[in-house]
Amino acid sequence: MNLQAVLARIAFATNTAGRDPQSVLLLAVSKTRPVEDVRAAFEAGQRAFGENYAREGAEKAAALAGLGLEWHFIGPLQANKTRLVAEFFDWVHSIDRLKIAERLSAQRDAHRPPLQICLQVNVSGERSKSGVAPQDVAALARALVRLPRLNLRGLMCIPEATDDQACLRHRFARLRQLHEELRADGLALDTLSMGMSHDLETAIAEGASIVRVGTAIFGERPAARSNGSSKPVIL
Ligand SMILES: *Cc1c(COP(=O)(O)O)cnc(C)c1O
Repeated sequence: MNLQAVLARIAFATNTAGRDPQSVLLLAVSKTRPVEDVRAAFEAGQRAFGENYAREGAEKAAALAGLGLEWHFIGPLQANKTRLVAEFFDWVHSIDRLKIAERLSAQRDAHRPPLQICLQVNVSGERSKSGVAPQDVAALARALVRLPRLNLRGLMCIPEATDDQACLRHRFARLRQLHEELRADGLALDTLSMGMSHDLETAIAEGASIVRVGTAIFGERPAARSNGSSKPVIL
């Protein structure tokens, strides 16, 4: 496990950007990883974990309940999985439809803290990508802040797969700009969820407050699962 190396990268990147290292939360993306890997990261000091599949994440959260971990749902969310997510997760980064948010709002236990949510934006304009188009962000954000038991915290993006850091920087800058527009419009947002293993420095330079890192902490994922085309078989 390379948790310390990733924390060092974050410290260096925040320092370079003239930012407080504490202003960036490391989300350890543990999708496809066994519970033992999560526990090992916990023992190394990590508290926030990201999962892409509702059932897999719910099972890990249940298995490790009591450790005080924070669970973030970051994958595409289907209507028939919202109840699991509302029950087992603390955050959802991948909201791009009002209908899904309405279900989460209705299903979140009123005695628990509200679900912290981010609106996912399709900043690269790829047809196949999830995320709302930039021009639709403001309207959806306005609708989301009206829903009870949800707390809209900010924006999230997954740019196209490229090693071109200039292009990525441009995408992250776009997300930051949309975020600033919403804040200028009176929404109390504090979260920019952007940056992964290969581009976290670029994202931090553009103001990321949460970086979502899997491979650089836990190593390569098994090939069949890393492209999102097949779900892990876990029940
Ligand atoms: C898998 C995943 C990550 C982590 O990607 P790495 O390249 O392994 O760091 C981050 N965000 C989302 C939405 C993911 O699905």
